[in-house]
Amino acid sequence: MGEAVPDRAGQGEVGDLLTLGRRIRHLRTARGRTLDDLAGAVGSSASRLSLLENGRREPKLSMVNALARELGVPLAELLAPEAPSRRADLEIRLEHAQRSPLYGQLGLPTVRPGKRVPLELLEALVGLHDELVRRAHERAATPEEARTANVELRRTMRSQDNYFADVEDAAAGLLEAVAYPGGPLSQRQVEALAAHLGYRFEVAADLPHSARSVTDTRNQVIYLRTPGSTRTRAVALQALGHLVLGHGEPAGYPEFLRQRVEVNCFAAALLVPRREAVRLLTAAKQARDLAVEDVRDAFNVSYETAAHRFTNLATHDLGLPVHFMRVHESGTISKAYENDGVLFPVDATGAIEGQPVCRNWTARTVFERPQGVPYHQYTDTPSGTYWCTSSVDLDQAGRFSVSVGVPFVHVKWFRGRETTERSRSQCPDPSCCRTPPAALSDRWAAHARPSARAHSHLLAALPPGTYPGVDDTEVYRFLEARTR
Ligand SMILES: [Zn+2]
Repeated sequence: MGEAVPDRAGQGEVGDLLTLGRRIRHLRTARGRTLDDLAGAVGSSASRLSLLENGRREPKLSMVNALARELGVPLAELLAPEAPSRRADLEIRLEHAQRSPLYGQLGLPTVRPGKRVPLELLEALVGLHDELVRRAHERAATPEEARTANVELRRTMRSQDNYFADVEDAAAGLLEAVAYPGGPLSQRQVEALAAHLGYRFEVAADLPHSARSVTDTRNQVIYLRTPGSTRTRAVALQALGHLVLGHGEPAGYPEFLRQRVEVNCFAAALLVPRREAVRLLTAAKQARDLAVEDVRDAFNVSYETAAHRFTNLATHDLGLPVHFMRVHESGTISKAYENDGVLFPVDATGAIEGQPVCRNWTARTVFERPQGVPYHQYTDTPSGTYWCTSSVDLDQAGRFSVSVGVPFVHVKWFRGRETTERSRSQCPDPSCCRTPPAALSDRWAAHARPSARAHSHLLAALPPGTYPGVDDTEVYRFLEARTR
């Protein structure tokens, strides 16, 4: 084997050599010739010819010519890319699969597909190898696949007005089963919900870093990191959501995303039960006094949960088109939803995650306003005028804003419509806010060398710019202020 062609030649080439080798063997045996006999006739040795037939050695062209002549076929037929038979095709694919790093990682022996290996066994092995490869690919979703899946999911959510009937039904049924009395869902009631499903919670300070909760379905225990906080309630309910909604191990990235959206929705539907929320919101709409913060206060949830819940119900139960955005202080979107025609920034694939939001939008301007009170603003955009309400919060990645907006005609139902704050956005026209002012650009374009902060959000594509992920204008302004 010292002279064997190593696999570094690449799978394609090895595959080609294997096919050539199998074609030679097929013709040789069809003509009833032995290795010794044929090797002798072309001036080679049986062992060399065997290496060639096994795709482990690259023959010289003169040798291929001699073999074709000796086997009585045109050169082109010997070099044809197809395997000579179904069996040879399976043998080639099995060899291929067994030489792959994916199989190598398993530490399993390789099977030599000799003559005595039945055809069914070959079929089964090759089928399993193909499935192994398919699953490995599915798990390693590329950023492009992730973005495509996000786009697809957002389209689905839009088509159903962000209303998930099955999830609402499941949540309502559970609440009934534990005789939910109304108002904020207490930690005790969350525990009662779990008990109703046969589960209990346990606090585990050493929970794996990458996990928010871990569910042991054998012993019916859900492990959480910290007890009792508002955030823990949502994490606990999401873990229950996977059980109630019958989620299995996701078969691929799109399913993983869908499950995440569903359990988010499930947790929100328990924290802010629909019947109670719709009663509150309908009364507020009649009084022309709708406000996201009232949902937050009535159910003791975060502003983000209240805003998310508002978008679940706004169209289905109140007849209002809406948009929702969660924007990091760096100006990029981490989550967004719309069915009101607002034009989110998108990349070439239609994805919005990680895209920079117009700096004139409420989701950005709110960072410069006094904190702790909801901020309201009218924004004139190329697709119409919108009114938005926004609030800033903090998570481990920094500050982020959560905004809910409606087209101008629907602002009459909302508290805060009297605001005098107004801005104008021309985005995606780059002259709106993306191109740095010429005077700054002239002074700094050749001399600024920023380094991007790592993006914390999982799926974000880095937005385009001179330095991906960095806002040129901000960098230039910063330098300008420092050196004036
Ligand atoms: Zn803009």
